[in-house]
Amino acid sequence: MESCLFCKIAAGEIPSDRVYEDEKILCFRDINPQAPVHVLVIPRAHIPSVDEVNAENCDIVAHIFKRIPEIAKTVGLSNGYRVISNCGPDACQSVGHLHFHILGGKRLSEEMA
Ligand code: AMP
Repeated sequence: MESCLFCKIAAGEIPSDRVYEDEKILCFRDINPQAPVHVLVIPRAHIPSVDEVNAENCDIVAHIFKRIPEIAKTVGLSNGYRVISNCGPDACQSVGHLHFHILGGKRLSEEMA
C-alpha cells in the first residue's frame, strides 16, 4: 500500500531502528516507547489489522509468533514481556498495518485497559 507508513518502513523508504528482519517480517524499535524496551513486529505484506487476518494470510501470524521468543532475546527481554496488537478505533490503533507491540524491560502494569 503506497500510503502506508509501515509499508514504507518495510520498503526502507522511511528509516527505522531494525532489530530483526527476514523475508516475511520486520521488527524495529517504536519511535515513542511506552516501556524501556518497545519494539514492533510487522509482516512485510500489507494486512490492515487483526480484523483482516483470515485463512489465506494467517501463516504470517504464526511466523511472527514463531520469531517473537528469538526477537525478545535479541532485545534483552530475559524476564518476560507483553505482546499487544491494537485493532480498530476502540483499541486506539493508529497505524493501519498489522503490528504486534513487544513491551518489557521493567515490571509492567497489571492493568490491560
Ligand atoms: P498502534 O497505536 O497500536 O497502531 O501502534 C502504532 C505504533 O507505531 C505507536 O506505538 C507509534 O509510536 C509507532 N510508530 C509510529 N510511527 C513510527 C515510526 N516512524 N517508527 C517507529 N514507530 C512508529
